[in-house]
Amino acid sequence: MLESIPTPCYVLEQDKLNYNLEILSRVQNLSGAKILLALKGYAFWRRFEKLREILSGSTASGLYEARLGFEEIGGFKQGKEVCVFSPAYKEVDSLLPFATHIIFNSFHQLARFAPLVKEHNKNAEFSISIGLRINPLYSEVETELYNPCARFSRLGITPDSFEKGLQKYGSEILQNIEGLHFHTHCEQDSTALAHTLPYVEKHFGAYFKGLKWLNFGGGHHITRYDYDENLLIKLIQDFKAHHHLEVFLEPGEAVGWQVGFLIASVVDIVENEKQIAILDVSASAHMPDCLEMPYRPSVYKVSKGAIEADKGEQSARYCYRFGAHTCLAGDVIGDFSFDSKLEIGDRVVFCDMLHYTIVKNTTFNGVELPSLGVIERDENGMENFKILKTFDFSDYKERN
Ligand SMILES: *Cc1c(COP(=O)(O)O)cnc(C)c1O
Repeated sequence: MLESIPTPCYVLEQDKLNYNLEILSRVQNLSGAKILLALKGYAFWRRFEKLREILSGSTASGLYEARLGFEEIGGFKQGKEVCVFSPAYKEVDSLLPFATHIIFNSFHQLARFAPLVKEHNKNAEFSISIGLRINPLYSEVETELYNPCARFSRLGITPDSFEKGLQKYGSEILQNIEGLHFHTHCEQDSTALAHTLPYVEKHFGAYFKGLKWLNFGGGHHITRYDYDENLLIKLIQDFKAHHHLEVFLEPGEAVGWQVGFLIASVVDIVENEKQIAILDVSASAHMPDCLEMPYRPSVYKVSKGAIEADKGEQSARYCYRFGAHTCLAGDVIGDFSFDSKLEIGDRVVFCDMLHYTIVKNTTFNGVELPSLGVIERDENGMENFKILKTFDFSDYKERN
């Protein structure tokens, strides 16, 4: 089958997604937490049927993701959550038809937008719940790029800023909120959550009174084979029993973990000290984490029906650097080696390429693409600005 798939192609293996969903279903049932899909990490909505049955909703970082979650997983009418967090909102009006939860990242934005949300709630079928994102000053994430508690982080209100916010706006402002949110994990086991919760309680426990929910964010690597699921379940049960709050988890990666691959073809092989295979995929455009992390994906080659796994950088007889067919010098996926020769026309399979890849094909987090415009002179020699092209939700949705 691998040789008949047109390349390049991201391929979902439905059985593997179902397997992850079974695990998440069990955790959800036993822990009593609601599990939402973080669309930032996995938004392959063309096969959301089973996911929609099992998960409790979606987590979005802005309008486009919120609308996608609402359309493809469901909104309040279907009993699903659409939980929105953004580091800053230019406006919230456009979110109101879709969101069930809106989480602000500062007291300033809370003060500015809470009246609009409350006004909406007066006449709406469904009341949107407001929350604040906090920074508990504890994270075990080692890569700075992915650490929301790194020094100078803009993500979440620190205990200090929380105090200052209350002084500036008055403690009555907390009457607007029903929940708190922290997101401090990335590919973590439940032990990291066990270490984090005491910081959340220590710095923010005083504000739990009167709240309805606490969102434990994403980064829980629940579907990894060695993840301690029972500890997670116990932590949530204990937390719920102690604080009487509803708990949300919003994993992205754990949903799309090892559910499919990206398949490429070898277009040419050139030589410059090393053998360099030029493929019809790009790290920069299709597997950006290979450059950002950076990390080295698991790779198979498929030659004339025979599948062979990569043996390591220089471990086997035939070594190749895999590069993209782009003109960016650094668009290199890594060095790989095999016992048999790689030929032009062979296939290369990059494993585990469904999460954090498709979503990053230029509209990461559902951010709108910048418009294209021009400043040019008219007949009178006056400079004018003109918009040539704008992009919208469908440009985002259709890429996933
Ligand atoms: C990225 C992100 C998630 C999902 O994280 P994963 O590591 O993919 O599980 C959840 N919530 C927020 C706020 C995020 O920024």
